[in-house]
Amino acid sequence: MKIGFIGLGNMGGPMAANLAAAGHQVSGFDLAAEMPEGVTKADSASAAAQDKDAVITMLPNGKILGDVASEIIEVMSKGAAFIDCSTVDVDSARQVAEAATAFGLLAVDAPVSGGVGGASDGTLTFMAGGSSEAFAKAEPLFEIMGQKAVHCGDSGAGQAAKICNNMILGITMIGTCEAFALADKLGLDRQKMFDVVSTSSGYSWSMNAYCPAPGVGPESPADRGYRPGFAAELMLKDLRLSQQAAESSNADTPLGQQAMELYQTFVEEEDGNGKDFSAMLPRFEKRGRG
Ligand code: NAD
Repeated sequence: MKIGFIGLGNMGGPMAANLAAAGHQVSGFDLAAEMPEGVTKADSASAAAQDKDAVITMLPNGKILGDVASEIIEVMSKGAAFIDCSTVDVDSARQVAEAATAFGLLAVDAPVSGGVGGASDGTLTFMAGGSSEAFAKAEPLFEIMGQKAVHCGDSGAGQAAKICNNMILGITMIGTCEAFALADKLGLDRQKMFDVVSTSSGYSWSMNAYCPAPGVGPESPADRGYRPGFAAELMLKDLRLSQQAAESSNADTPLGQQAMELYQTFVEEEDGNGKDFSAMLPRFEKRGRG
């Protein structure tokens, strides 16, 4: 397939490289990032998007996605797939899909889970929204870049699944960090705490796969001085998206709201910016109740 790839940062770079390594002809465009091996550099987003069977975007937010979409949709070939893998708000995803469909394109919102490691290893999970025809066209590419792709429903459904997942992740990470900080104060050894919780009803991905305590559990950003991984500011972005969606759909999400406020304080007023989102543990460790 001829593929255009726009946004080759921490996630997009390795995803594009995997498509090229699988034998696809990939033309990339990024404002700053270097092209990964096997990807040909295009001079603009529209040059990357022209005459392609599929165009994939992996961009920072909904505003940038909207700007790029309005540049490329008109030059894309009819029947081509426009696959957006960025994490953006549901409304932006739906607007882009509507504009793309009006030009005869097959639109899929397909945010991912699995982080930079999953992008490099080709083990991402894709959660997709769009028509069955659009999903079918994108699926072979998801199979190269990931290990699982779930067709969640119509346009926007992929983003809806993503922000619900990440709201759970933000809440469980805070809960796990709080519990470790409490365990410390109760004089409980961290390894013992992990051994119990990881096999008891308090287990979660945050505890078992991404343990926020250094030297405990499988290797995680905690073992690298909390270098991301998944940055606290990206978690804040996703929690904000969840609360924006909760507001527009009148959903009661008190823990999601509280998690967003905690990450906002951590990123904007404390030293959380640029750290992994699991660095909530040293934050709680330093604090008392007052
Ligand atoms: P990143 O900042 O590393 O990459 C974004 C890239 O987009 C950058 O290289 C930037 O130069 C480029 N870009 C920005 N504006 C552009 C434009 N107008 N035209 C072309 N290129 C442009 O971010 P990332 O970590 O790769 O994340 C990308 C998306 O994936 C985000 O929406 C993020 O929320 C989501 N995501 C990230 C992770 C993660 O662990 N990093 C996990 C899941 C989802």
